[in-house]
Amino acid sequence: MNVLLLGSGGREHALAWKIAASPLLTKLYAAPGNPGIGREAELVKLDIADHSAVAAFCKDREIGLVVVGPEGPLVAGISDDLRGWGIRVFGPSRAAARLEGSKGFTKDLCARYDIPTAAYGRFADLASAKAYVEKMGTPIVIKADGLAAGKGVTVAMTMDEALAALDACFDGSFGTAGAEVVVEEFLTGEEASFFCLCDGTTALPFGTAQDHKRVGDGDVGPNTGGMGAYSPAPVMTPQMVERTMREIVEPTMRGMAATGAPFAGILFAGLMITDEGPKLIEYNTRFGDPECQVLMMRLKDDLLVLLNAAVDGQLAHMSARWSDEAALTVVMAARGYPGTPEKGSVIRGLDEAASEGAQIFHAGTAINGGALVANGGRVLNVTAIGATVGEAQKKAYAALDRIDWPQGFCRRDIGWQAVAREKAGAS
Ligand code: AMP
Repeated sequence: MNVLLLGSGGREHALAWKIAASPLLTKLYAAPGNPGIGREAELVKLDIADHSAVAAFCKDREIGLVVVGPEGPLVAGISDDLRGWGIRVFGPSRAAARLEGSKGFTKDLCARYDIPTAAYGRFADLASAKAYVEKMGTPIVIKADGLAAGKGVTVAMTMDEALAALDACFDGSFGTAGAEVVVEEFLTGEEASFFCLCDGTTALPFGTAQDHKRVGDGDVGPNTGGMGAYSPAPVMTPQMVERTMREIVEPTMRGMAATGAPFAGILFAGLMITDEGPKLIEYNTRFGDPECQVLMMRLKDDLLVLLNAAVDGQLAHMSARWSDEAALTVVMAARGYPGTPEKGSVIRGLDEAASEGAQIFHAGTAINGGALVANGGRVLNVTAIGATVGEAQKKAYAALDRIDWPQGFCRRDIGWQAVAREKAGAS
């Protein structure tokens, strides 16, 4: 089977690496890809936003499956358009991708199907949103309804912050994403990411992870797309997974099917594990980045077989096996990130780093004059596996320290909660 993978980040490099290992694969193409993906796939210049051009390429190269990495093309309806041309696609329809594309849609689904989540209100005008916030008090969470590149959420500890966040949404800071606002109750507990592979009817649990969103050690500083992750998430015990499936994922699958938008693809539940049990913070409709990188390190089965089963509605007959080991990834970012990253600095030493037993996924890299250079905010994902999170952490940092890239930086404490827990358990 020929496969076309869409996307260009570390998530897509990890997917390419795993798909390339499948005996089912004849040839892998990626668009636009990056130099790391280029080692696993033939890179093709395609405008992903031009769905008819993508379809023409698929027909020409006899693509048997298109795998969509990022959320943008899903919300833009690439799955529907390609399917309309008779092309098999792994990724939810535009209607099903509303689980990520509209926070209000998801909150209403939760209300209708009794799915545990933070109490909320939806507002399309500033005055009524302010009145609600003033009634509820702080801490409180303000969210732009639509996709805002991870920047549309404010956890406000003071009334001034909350009101400023509402002003920012309604004055157009997030474009159309902020035209509607969700205001919700502040939840406390431990966060975890939970993934399911879905075929419209069946949801197959597909791994757990925890990530680090803040740029600085000790979880301080501005939010980022993610500075590192590890899998599994210790808080997601088998009982917690079972409860999450029963209380959150399965009603979601039933609800989506009942509204005529059955969910097929990766369902990524951002959870808060509270004293009362798991509560849904948000859904994403694709793999997390960098969570995908740690999941792919632990997946023992053939990813391409599983993706095909999801597309064909055959997941009820499948299982997914995971390594008992822990995986951990550290993001190396370019100086300036999450503001404006410096581009163009030369990166050396990746072979030496890989020789430490780590897998190095490329995110924002490019080739310039034969040299590997930084070409984005998050640039490399140094990923390792070990008997414990602590061991994986040690291996990942040993590899990372062999990378020669003075303009890059990383957090030095990825996995700290899990490592502390392991140490407490051992003593
Ligand atoms: P989101 O983009 O919805 O995942 O939100 C980004 C981050 O904001 C989450 O990972 C949480 O850390 C935090 N957050 C979102 N909603 C809530 C909530 N209701 N209570 C507490 N923290 C939240």
